[in-house]
Amino acid sequence: MTRKNKLGIKWRFFLYLAIFTVVTLGLLWIFQIVLLDDFYRAIKTASIRSTAESIARNVGSEELQDYLEAVAQQEDLCILLCDGEGRQLASVDYLHDCVIHRMTPDGRYALYDRALKNGGSHLETFEWEGVSGAPPGAPPLRQDRFPGIRQRDSIESIVSVSVLPDGAGGERVLMLNAIVSPVDATVYTLRVQLICISVIMLMVALLLAVIIARTVSRPIVRINEGAKALAAGQYEMHFPETGYREIAELGRTLNMTATELGKTEALKRELIANVSHDLRTPLTMIAGYSEVMRDIPGENTPENMQIIIDETQRLSLLVNDLLDISKLQSGTQTLSVEEFSLTRTIQRTLTRYNKLTRQQGYRIEFLHDREVYVSADELRISQVIYNLVNNAINYTGPDRLVILRQIVGEGFVRIEVVDTGEGIAEENLPLIWDRYYKVDKEHKQAAIGTGLGLSIVRSVMELHGGGYGVESTLGQGSCFWFSLPVLPPPES
Ligand code: ADP
Repeated sequence: MTRKNKLGIKWRFFLYLAIFTVVTLGLLWIFQIVLLDDFYRAIKTASIRSTAESIARNVGSEELQDYLEAVAQQEDLCILLCDGEGRQLASVDYLHDCVIHRMTPDGRYALYDRALKNGGSHLETFEWEGVSGAPPGAPPLRQDRFPGIRQRDSIESIVSVSVLPDGAGGERVLMLNAIVSPVDATVYTLRVQLICISVIMLMVALLLAVIIARTVSRPIVRINEGAKALAAGQYEMHFPETGYREIAELGRTLNMTATELGKTEALKRELIANVSHDLRTPLTMIAGYSEVMRDIPGENTPENMQIIIDETQRLSLLVNDLLDISKLQSGTQTLSVEEFSLTRTIQRTLTRYNKLTRQQGYRIEFLHDREVYVSADELRISQVIYNLVNNAINYTGPDRLVILRQIVGEGFVRIEVVDTGEGIAEENLPLIWDRYYKVDKEHKQAAIGTGLGLSIVRSVMELHGGGYGVESTLGQGSCFWFSLPVLPPPES
């Protein structure tokens, strides 16, 4: 499977690179070979035109012959300047296969005539057998052209004819001749070169495809093996976060996944341990006291009965917590929202602690200056209050003081539950809201919960879209809070 994929990547890269190479070479081919003639011809035509114009401007100069020779050499041209009668005034026969110098006077006259009809200038192309043939109306040419180079069959010449005034009422005829033909030799050379380049480029593409495929697929294969180990439950697996960006990111993500999975797994194991411990203690007590009451006369006292009742209640509390959290977190729980007085709900919840405050000396103070109404699920909110107050009582300091504060702000109410206990270390603050998380693994008091209390608070507040949080200083205590949008008091 792996092997097949690797091959797949390699061949795919090769395909892309080959397509790229073929397109690039194709474009080169089109421009350098197919269109080269046209380009070359267009450039030659433009240059012969502009040369004719610049010669026309300088035709009256003193050193005309020198000037014409210089131009002919520079532009690869033949130049012929005649007067109105066809007499030669200046001439540079620079090219072997020039048409204008090998043309009969009749041929030249015909060109002159066409220029006149065309408004004074005319451009014409001649194609003729350069080696064996002759230009229209001209004697045969020399045979020594391009020794050693493949001769092309025909030679193409561009001839420009301009009729210029001579300043004394007469005319001058300027003829220029450029040859387009030798481009064929260049095309042939380029073609051979392009074939070589094509072969080399395709080989380079294949080599590159192999190298790229290796560098791309090797880390993927490594990560794949790691991921398989992760799937098999090896959460301590570490993925390399090196290499190119995407792979490094994937490595980071998988490391995070491994950490999270490991954490969940550890929490799950801890929960099972905690829950079994929490279930065993009350069950042992219930069984023990019941046996004592059955077997020993006189032990059937209300105190012993109360212990059994308390332990049963603790059991149902635990089971309820577990049910609540699974319902809340599975998303099946819907809120039954209604308007109620949050202040009164808090007061009512606090009455549950009356016995505790009376018997064990806890002081629970509720500071509020008015009654506020909210729109929420009253039962769930009282559960939040209950869980926070329970925690505060369990963790508060020796002064046994717990303070609840109701703070009303712009459109919201914030309830704070403050204790004077040991507080929570900074690094534990984000963790305490997790399911089953307990900072202190040892149970502080028998009444301390399951590690689910704050997780329930979080789920309920998130369902309500309300705020929640904690501020805590080690050694000074914690302040847990939640907030809800406040309603105007109902008209009564
Ligand atoms: P538990 O049933 O263990 O109280 P919670 O989810 O309510 O579970 O709390 C998670 C952990 O957060 C507790 O085990 C405890 O370590 C820490 N904690 C919660 N409330 C307080 C508090 N008021 N002061 C100090 N630590 C607290």
